[in-house]
Amino acid sequence: MRIRKLRLSGFKSFVEPAELIIERGLTGIVGPNGCGKSNLLEAIRWVMGEGSPKSLRGGGMEDVIFAGTATRPARDFAEVTIFTERPDATADEDREVEVTRRIERGAGSAYRMNGRDVRAKDVGLMFADAATGAHSPALVSQGRIAAVIAAKPHERRQMLEEAAGIAGLHVRRKDAEQK
Ligand code: ATP
Ligand code: MG
Repeated sequence: MRIRKLRLSGFKSFVEPAELIIERGLTGIVGPNGCGKSNLLEAIRWVMGEGSPKSLRGGGMEDVIFAGTATRPARDFAEVTIFTERPDATADEDREVEVTRRIERGAGSAYRMNGRDVRAKDVGLMFADAATGAHSPALVSQGRIAAVIAAKPHERRQMLEEAAGIAGLHVRRKDAEQK
């Protein structure tokens, strides 16, 4: 799955609406310490359904909302949209998938897929089917490289399953078992 574009508003340090277009090939993001490079990666993980505030360097999920500075008031919501292309799409019209996650103070998160309200589970299944998602081994946070090297056998198996494109089947099986 290719990420074409990322749109952020009120997410962490990205207080003003910002768009990042990712061209084909290798993209590097450079900038001084604290300018928001890691926040961008966290925005990608968050919109894909990351459920753990700790792994986004926060205490609670609302910590992703711009908290304000000496000169700027805090925001009431954060919104991230990811524009992706599914490699497995058959027709042109369902190749483009646009996923939005929005969190409002005191109201929790809501998701939209191609403009329709969906459940977190639908977003999770869509990304799992495309062999990616918030926990994809392709997304390595700062300081996590050592953890990838030291992964336990079952974690390593999970990485191989994602690489083989069968992780989605496990998510669907778990879902079916719960019914
Ligand atoms: P480094 O090069 O040190 O890894 P970086 O470019 O990865 O830096 P980030 O960690 O992405 O930087 O950004 C950190 C900045 O984001 C800090 O200045 C922090 O105050 C700011 N930040 C994080 N969460 C929020 C929030 N909820 N509201 C406002 N600012 C925030
Ligand atoms: Mg960083």
